[in-house]
Amino acid sequence: MSGRRLITNLKGLFTPDPETPWGTHTVLDAALAIQDNRIAWVGPRNEVPRAWQGAEPIDGKGRWATPGFVDPHTHLLFGGDRSQEFNRRLHGVTYAELAAAGGGIRETMRATRLATVAELVAIGESRLAKLARKGVVHIEAKTGYGLELETESRLLEAYAELKRRGWSLDVTLMPAHDLPQEFAGDPDRYIQVVADEWQPELVGRFPGVARFCDVFVEKGVFTADHGRQVLESGRKLGLTPRLHADEFCHTGGAELAAEMGAASADHLMFCSETGMKAMAAAGVTPILLPATTLFLGMRDFAPARKMIEAGCRVALASDFNPGSCACLDPLLILRLGCLQLRMTFEEAFTAMTLHAARSLGREDLGHLHPGALGKVALWEVNHPLELVYWMGETYLPEIINLA
Ligand SMILES: [Zn+2]
Repeated sequence: MSGRRLITNLKGLFTPDPETPWGTHTVLDAALAIQDNRIAWVGPRNEVPRAWQGAEPIDGKGRWATPGFVDPHTHLLFGGDRSQEFNRRLHGVTYAELAAAGGGIRETMRATRLATVAELVAIGESRLAKLARKGVVHIEAKTGYGLELETESRLLEAYAELKRRGWSLDVTLMPAHDLPQEFAGDPDRYIQVVADEWQPELVGRFPGVARFCDVFVEKGVFTADHGRQVLESGRKLGLTPRLHADEFCHTGGAELAAEMGAASADHLMFCSETGMKAMAAAGVTPILLPATTLFLGMRDFAPARKMIEAGCRVALASDFNPGSCACLDPLLILRLGCLQLRMTFEEAFTAMTLHAARSLGREDLGHLHPGALGKVALWEVNHPLELVYWMGETYLPEIINLA
């Protein structure tokens, strides 16, 4: 196949502008040239440079081109599901009651500990295929349902295999996702084992597979000091910190992320204004997860507008996981970004592409400018705004160059 391809007959092209925090570009009757899987030229069809006129043509069929979505926060791999628990919650049983009866994250931990690497890979492929069909071209994916060394190792091995099979993902180590029953009542000891023993062991077993480390800093789970310990250990191993922070109450998670120079602080429903300013100054990406707020039936969504005003480059993600967000639908996230976080369409779209990619250090994803990977989504719409406006509608884009 020719390395030079030209997409024409596009009704339009819509992309965030990587040179500005929130700028976007729209080109009507657009064309887009791809050289060896990277974008080489973008502009109006009647201005295609002569050198590109002999390139292999791809018919845009009157559709709109946008960058594919990037999902920068998923818990992709876990065994079982928690649909029964979901219904028990609807019947009025509280999460604390479920957890006391051995349910909640422990149920997922048990199912994940029983899963083989081959089973985890099959589960991962099926979920990645669903995301890809809906326009997601790259994700971040965490370990964290093993809560013991060997299962965390199997999760990492499964992620390595998914990468080997060509799926585009960045892996985050997260053994400190919750306190396992083996360490009940002794979070200090668990954190010490994760930081001093498991993280070095896991990075040693699978060099280069994980790029990030993460920890759940929350009241009743792990403290900011615990978080610091895990992230500092990770950083010594070459892992960049991310952080679950300020989800159910203010714990200083955003401030800690800024102090640690983390790539992101995620959730942030109860982020302080000091935390917002600290994140903006330190270049930490706040990653907001509105489908989790919805799924948990919580009233208060994260203060996206205040973060944008504070100078933060907000990103949006799914938080796909079995307990608090069983969602593999990027358009639901986009719609919640607009309808609940009060972001404009342009902001929400930028948050799910350019800013999501930036939080993963992927400068060549999330926009359609020369140099970017040619992972182009082609949507059958009159304008990309329709993706939010027709709010129950399913849109399945064609992805050019998914591999
Ligand atoms: Zn999460």
